[in-house]
Amino acid sequence: MSQSISIAYVVALTMFGLLFGSFANVVIWRFPRGESIVSPSSRCPHCETPVRWYDNVPVLSWIVLRARCRSCRGPIAARYPLVEALSGLLWLSAALAFGLSVQAVLAALFFWMLLVLTFIDLDTMRLPNPLVAAIAVGGLLGAVVSQVLGISLVPLVGVTASGIFAQPAFTAVIGCVLGAGLSGGVAALYAGVRGKSGFGMGDVKLLGAMGLFLGPYVLLALMIGSLVGAVAGIIAAARSGAGLQSKIPFGPFLALGGVVTVLFGPALMRGYLSLVGIG
Ligand SMILES: [Zn+2]
Repeated sequence: MSQSISIAYVVALTMFGLLFGSFANVVIWRFPRGESIVSPSSRCPHCETPVRWYDNVPVLSWIVLRARCRSCRGPIAARYPLVEALSGLLWLSAALAFGLSVQAVLAALFFWMLLVLTFIDLDTMRLPNPLVAAIAVGGLLGAVVSQVLGISLVPLVGVTASGIFAQPAFTAVIGCVLGAGLSGGVAALYAGVRGKSGFGMGDVKLLGAMGLFLGPYVLLALMIGSLVGAVAGIIAAARSGAGLQSKIPFGPFLALGGVVTVLFGPALMRGYLSLVGIG
C-alpha cells in the first residue's frame, strides 16, 4: 500500500462499495427474473411498500430496523446486509491494494461483478451470459486501452513479466484462452470423476472472461477455486449424506479465486517460485 493514499479516498471507495452492495442485492434478485434493474425502486418483498431512502442505508438500516420491514414487520433476510458488507469490504481491499488509480476502480468493479455472480449462481445454479460478458468486455477494454496508451489499467494484465507478456492485449488474450481452455479440461475431468458435472459451460465462460482481466494469473484463480471448491464439495457431501452426487455451484469458488488472485496473485506466485527454487 502506497503511503500517499489518503484516508478520505479509502473511506470514499468503501462507501461506494456499500452503495454498490445495495445495488448488487437488486441485480441478484431481479436479473434472473428478467426484471428491470433500474426501476421501480426497492420494495418490501412482503407488503410491496417502497423502501424509503433512510431505510435503505447499507447494513445500518437492517440493524436499526432489527431485520424487519418498517411497514409490515415482515422479516428481512440477513443476506441483504451481508452482500452490502461484502461489497464494501471488496471495494476497501481494492482501494488498499491499488491506491488512487484506475486499477483500483476496475478491480473493485471486477470484484463487484464476481459478488453478484456468486449469489446468482447460489440461487439459480446459473451464471447469466450477459453478466459474464460484461466482465469480458471490461477486461478486454481495459487491456486494449492499456496497450494503446502504454499504461496499466487492468490490475494484473501487463504487469506479469517482461517481453511479450508485458503487452496488455496479448496477456489478456492468453489469459482468456488459458482460462477457458483449461477449465474446459477440468469440466471434462469433473464429468468423468463425478459422473455428473458440477462444472458447467457457465464456469468455462466465466474463466475465459476472468482471463481477460487476470492474464495468465487466471490459472492461479482456477487452482484456488478448485481447491476450495473440492474441500467444500467433500464437506457438503459428508453433511448431506448424498455422496459426491450432491451438486454445488462452482461459480462462487471461481469468484473467490479471482478476488484472491487480484489481491495476492503476484505475491503468491513469487512465494511459490522461490519455494520450488525457480525464482
Ligand atoms: Zn413490508
